[in-house]
Amino acid sequence: HGEEKVAIVGSGLIGQNWAMIFAGAGYNVYLFDVDPNQLTKALVQTKQTLARYHSQGVIRGSGTSDEQAARIHGTSSLPECLEGAFYVQECVPENLDLKKKVFAQIDELASDNMILASSSSCLCASMFAEGLKHKENALVAHPINPPYFVPLVEIVPAPFTRSDVTQKTRLLMEKIGQSPITLQKESLGFALNRIQYACINECWNMYQTGLLSAEDIDKVCHDGLGLRYAFIGPLETMHLNANGITDYCERYAQGAYNVQKETFKPVPVMYDTDTAKMIEEEFSKSLPVDKLQARRQWRDSRLAALAKLKREM
Ligand code: NAD
Repeated sequence: HGEEKVAIVGSGLIGQNWAMIFAGAGYNVYLFDVDPNQLTKALVQTKQTLARYHSQGVIRGSGTSDEQAARIHGTSSLPECLEGAFYVQECVPENLDLKKKVFAQIDELASDNMILASSSSCLCASMFAEGLKHKENALVAHPINPPYFVPLVEIVPAPFTRSDVTQKTRLLMEKIGQSPITLQKESLGFALNRIQYACINECWNMYQTGLLSAEDIDKVCHDGLGLRYAFIGPLETMHLNANGITDYCERYAQGAYNVQKETFKPVPVMYDTDTAKMIEEEFSKSLPVDKLQARRQWRDSRLAALAKLKREM
């Protein structure tokens, strides 16, 4: 599909990741931004990043890093970006008025079968695509940071999204090496954040009751549950940990209920800032705020190695 064109609107962190992913999969990528300096920076950064991924052995897709980078074109013209593209991935900042404005601009230029996908983390397509001529082609395709190494994409159609658009988007995500899931309808938090918030709430609860340190709470995930969850999810875990999930429920329901009844708290209206300060104090010994950037790079390099391992298994 060397001649197939994808349009990326917004060249920040997420736009650059999509550009590299699509370029690696052989697509011709047109990257647009309202800020010309940002666009220039994005082209330099994606080229350098692909070269670095190549030298680290974690680059995706086919061709050398230069060949992949050459498939990413920058443009300061939205019409040029969209012209002839079959798929648009919008990646502008998370702001409802801005998404409405940008989708209205895209709508004016879109062809009838162009898929209009938003990277939005929280906003649903029904909030910003309702009035569009091409609203049936609009949906959310939410990536997870860093998308190049964390392949999940949450596909969230609006009530007015045509079902073939949802299906085509899912197939496209599979084709480019991402891992799509499809929500049957819009839901706040999509799926990942609903699970993430449940997890954070219980971590917070354990910390507040003084049960264990912040470092030890995190260890429960990165040296315990997280290792499992990188390969099988909580439901399959239930299925495997007994003679099938029905058997699991029969055996462990009472125990699970007792634990939750005894320990769980109602949903917090706000995270308690005193607790946040105490956790930050603990983290600041090993991870002061001025070391966060280095730690993010370390995280991404570990995720890169894990993504590679999973691909090769
Ligand atoms: P970012 O701030 O890094 O990049 C946004 C880019 O959009 C900037 O380059 C900006 O110049 C450009 N822009 C602003 N207005 C524009 C316009 N009218 N037309 C074209 N470009 C415009 O933001 P990001 O982190 O890349 O996030 C983009 C989207 O992806 C948001 O909806 C965000 O919620 C979502 N998202 C972010 C993450 C994350 O972890 N950062 C993860 C998943 C999804």
